[in-house]
Amino acid sequence: LQTRLPAVGTTVFTLMSALANEHGAVNLGQGFPDFGCDPRLLDHVNDAMRAGHNQYPPMTGAAPLRNAIADKIAALYGHRYDVASEITVTAGATQALTTAVLCCVHPGDEVIVIEPAYDSYLPAIELAGGVAVTVAMRFGEDGYHVPWDAVAAAVTPRTRLIIVNTPHNPTGSILQAADLEALAAIVDGTEILILSDEVYEHMVYDGQRHESVSRHPVLAERAFVVSSFGKTYHVTGWKIGYVAAPAAMTSEFRKVHQYNVFSVNTPMQHAIAAYMDDPQPYRGLPAFYQRKRDLFREGLAGTRFTLLPADGTYFQCVRYDAISSMKETDFAKWLTAEVKVAAIPVSAFYRDANESGVVRFCFAKQDETLLTALERLQRI
Ligand code: PMP
Ligand code: GLN
Repeated sequence: LQTRLPAVGTTVFTLMSALANEHGAVNLGQGFPDFGCDPRLLDHVNDAMRAGHNQYPPMTGAAPLRNAIADKIAALYGHRYDVASEITVTAGATQALTTAVLCCVHPGDEVIVIEPAYDSYLPAIELAGGVAVTVAMRFGEDGYHVPWDAVAAAVTPRTRLIIVNTPHNPTGSILQAADLEALAAIVDGTEILILSDEVYEHMVYDGQRHESVSRHPVLAERAFVVSSFGKTYHVTGWKIGYVAAPAAMTSEFRKVHQYNVFSVNTPMQHAIAAYMDDPQPYRGLPAFYQRKRDLFREGLAGTRFTLLPADGTYFQCVRYDAISSMKETDFAKWLTAEVKVAAIPVSAFYRDANESGVVRFCFAKQDETLLTALERLQRI
């Protein structure tokens, strides 16, 4: 069988989790919470199943959930999407991202991807027959920034789509209002579409606000905005997310979605909708994760790791050049096997394994887990 994806192997997250298990390491690699969700959410699942929400939902998603999503976006970002024609529930953000790429990228079209980039973007572009044009973030002591001049320079008549991600995995950086302005200036008056991965939208710290692309009129009118309930409600295994996009784009999205999954499991959709009726549970999330971030950063402050800024997501990146000159993957493996703390090499988020001596830790963990990891990292 001739492969459609020659460069693809097993994801770094799966590999590092397997290595963590093999060595009995604390797993701060793959991004998922090691604590449960709100028990009220579980009660809503039970209620939904007993109320008979167990057959196919509408292809576009259960109506109460689409309503809740539209209300949330309007309340937080001031853009009112039409429930019937502009919101689609997906099997996690991963399916939304791949479906969005497949529905608009034609063979030979160029897609601008800002690196480091979440690992599902490049394979999706390749499956569509598109050409990924990568632009590296600028990296210095003050962290990572998107070089909009380089993005503008990468635009050609074949550019079909630009993929952005804020808050950003793996760097924890966030886009500011000025970044959205810069992006809008690049795409205004062109036919370029935007795919905005906002799965960590509720994890922004230090009183800063999430700059959703849906806030910006020039961007919203050409953007697929993607999010995931797995991140927000501590249920990454439920694999439910959504895409919000203008009706003409949503219509093309649904053509692919219809034959990709058709629809997404019913009871979880009703449960999340009922939960979102409560006093918006995501409101406490920044404080909840900021405390964990600070606990983790304070613990690392006395070590030879250099902390990079962490404005959003549940990831903390560190430089380790004062500890080792190993390549990132080797260092992450060494940390896992010898120090018994698993991390993710940031080089895995580049097509050409760019080495900058940085690894990513996930702090979506119980305090005890973080303290155990810190105690080990402090011994290096
Ligand atoms: N985008 C980013 C940036 C992510 O970090 C993740 C989760 N690791 C996803 C998309 C995928 O989300 P989901 O689990 O809902 O498919
Ligand atoms: N998004 C998670 C991370 O960045 C991993 C998801 C996965 O395992 N595919 O760690």
